[in-house]
Amino acid sequence: MSLKFNLLNTTDAGGRRGQMHLPHQTVETPVFMPVGTAGSVKAVPQDVVESLGAQVILGNTYHLYLRPGHESIQRLGGLHRFISWPRAMLTDSGGFQVYSLTQLRKVTDEGVRFRSHLDGSLHFFTPEYSMDVQIALGADICMAFDECTEYPADRARAEESLRLTMAWAQRSLDYFRAHRHEVPWLKDPRSPNEGDQGHPMTEGRTQSLFGIVQGGMYLDLRRQSAERLVEMDFDGYAIGGLSVGEPRELTLEVISEVLPLLPESKPRYVMGVGYPDEIEQYARMGVDMMDCVLPTRAARHGLLFTSEGRVNIKNRRYAEDQGPADPACDCMVCRRYSRAYLRHLMQSSEPLGATLNTIHNLAYYLGIMRRVRADLAAGANMPEPVRP
Ligand SMILES: [Zn+2]
Repeated sequence: MSLKFNLLNTTDAGGRRGQMHLPHQTVETPVFMPVGTAGSVKAVPQDVVESLGAQVILGNTYHLYLRPGHESIQRLGGLHRFISWPRAMLTDSGGFQVYSLTQLRKVTDEGVRFRSHLDGSLHFFTPEYSMDVQIALGADICMAFDECTEYPADRARAEESLRLTMAWAQRSLDYFRAHRHEVPWLKDPRSPNEGDQGHPMTEGRTQSLFGIVQGGMYLDLRRQSAERLVEMDFDGYAIGGLSVGEPRELTLEVISEVLPLLPESKPRYVMGVGYPDEIEQYARMGVDMMDCVLPTRAARHGLLFTSEGRVNIKNRRYAEDQGPADPACDCMVCRRYSRAYLRHLMQSSEPLGATLNTIHNLAYYLGIMRRVRADLAAGANMPEPVRP
């Protein structure tokens, strides 16, 4: 049995608050998902990520496949147990990294041949193989293997890319349905969630698979893509190929076009967005899930997101600033450390700087979603019952 999604409230603006029941966690939506690229939300230990209230984190299939290898992770009981993360996880299909990180890749109808960015070794990913890898990793949610259409792309290129993505979506789904019972934790009594973690795994639930709407910036291709994926009947739907360099109005236009085409009864995920005001805007429009490397990556470069706007903590003006990173934030960093100290850590290249900055930025992003959920809960009517 795959995920169960309940809508709790909806607003006239299309916003919705819900609960997504996954094997390792009941996730309150809308939700922001921190990115844990290679089995780690960079610079922050898992217990801290948990204490910040993260309900679901991402793992990158491409990175974990190359190192330490999905078969090794499978033998170690799956990604949850390997990294000691008791809550929900989502893995991407590996496609995006293959396109963005590797050279000499060759795309055919069968799949993508590419060279590892680590050692130049040759690899071949097909939709079926991406499913195999994701089942071995064992995230609660897997993603269909797709081709992320670059920006800008002309119409012929976007059409051809979409043709591949749609064929690969069906192959991903067929293979996933036949093999998802092979996930390492399904019948494993040594679940990481038993014992002291206090998150009993929901019995009988297995992995879910989301389809990814592509089509570049062509709204009719986006519509076509959404309608065909909905016919295939995935457990949830993602809008991919955004935040690839297009102007923000276009991102918004594509999201606005696609959202109404997706079934109300299933979760909707916009991949790879965005700045704090963007994730708030999209959440209020009815996007249930978002992920982005921005809060973690920016933090490592000294960029903090605060209620007063962006703060480049390396700036000299903070050298003797005794105030917290964000006066309106009550995260463990803002309660304890000054801007002057955070700046000093960055100036001295102390690893603690990246850790503290990341903790604050994640707290800020997760806080936005908590606030949006509270607003939706307070100001919204109960939705009409959704017919299956
Ligand atoms: Zn803070």
